[in-house]
Amino acid sequence: MELLGRYVNGNVRTMIFADGTKVRETDDDEFMPAYAENIDIKICNRCDRGCKFCHEGSTPDGKLGDILNENFVDTLHPYQEVALGGGNVLEHPDLISFLQKLKERKVIANITLNQVHFEKNIEVVENSINEKLIYGLGVSLVNPTSEFIEKISKFPNAVIHVINGILKPSDVELLGNKGLKMLILGYKNLRRGSEWLAEDHENIVVKQMWLKENLADIVNKFKVLSFDNLAIEQLDVQRLFTKEKWDEFYAGDDGKNTYYIDMVERKFARSSTAPFNKRYDLMDSVDEMFTVIRKETKK
Ligand code: SF4
Repeated sequence: MELLGRYVNGNVRTMIFADGTKVRETDDDEFMPAYAENIDIKICNRCDRGCKFCHEGSTPDGKLGDILNENFVDTLHPYQEVALGGGNVLEHPDLISFLQKLKERKVIANITLNQVHFEKNIEVVENSINEKLIYGLGVSLVNPTSEFIEKISKFPNAVIHVINGILKPSDVELLGNKGLKMLILGYKNLRRGSEWLAEDHENIVVKQMWLKENLADIVNKFKVLSFDNLAIEQLDVQRLFTKEKWDEFYAGDDGKNTYYIDMVERKFARSSTAPFNKRYDLMDSVDEMFTVIRKETKK
């Protein structure tokens, strides 16, 4: 496996490999990173898909972040990871220049795209990966067609993103046992996600109950199955692990190794679902922002 980088962050020794594998070790009882290992960054709120459950509330004329002119970008650490999302990040005209800037700083950039945008822009994605502008690729599922499965299977670092309450049994039937990686995200009761939950409540809850009940089976159908912290809570994922395995696999609470920056509204917070009174004005340094988040997390 190609080693992308090895670094020490607080009391954590980390190795990152080209296939997305990350190994973290410490000699202490607890991981205490000095700076955030991974930052979720929203770069635009523009998107033409109009998904009813969009917790970002993205629209075709949504705002773009001024991503080439924010000081904090120059304070990112080598091998620090950023997960870029939107909106549709491909709608940001400065995306490639921004990715080049991150690459110069040796920052590891990952992006998330909707399936439709991924399939329409597969060459851009391929070129960005070949040029090492992006490493991880998240693709939000719309429809698990055989063409889609064939296309995504060509990207070893691709992870299919699905939402608890939107994912249905037929999706798992079609995607399962094909050596794919899947990330289950919790349902975010925010912006349009909140309106859609009120409108289609029963349907969403039925799907969430099905997923929770069948999770142990579903795990075995994927090469890798991972969860965000909201899904871990909604699906009570911990019940499927022994204590030892949980300690080995759980990456930590939001705000411990990670936080969220909204470059559109120029705010930062513990996560993208943080309440609006827990979102703070953007600062000029990623470490200063992490200190604020860590203090909040400790409280
Ligand atoms: S959920 Fe994603 S694809 Fe859908 S409207 Fe929102 S940003 Fe666009």
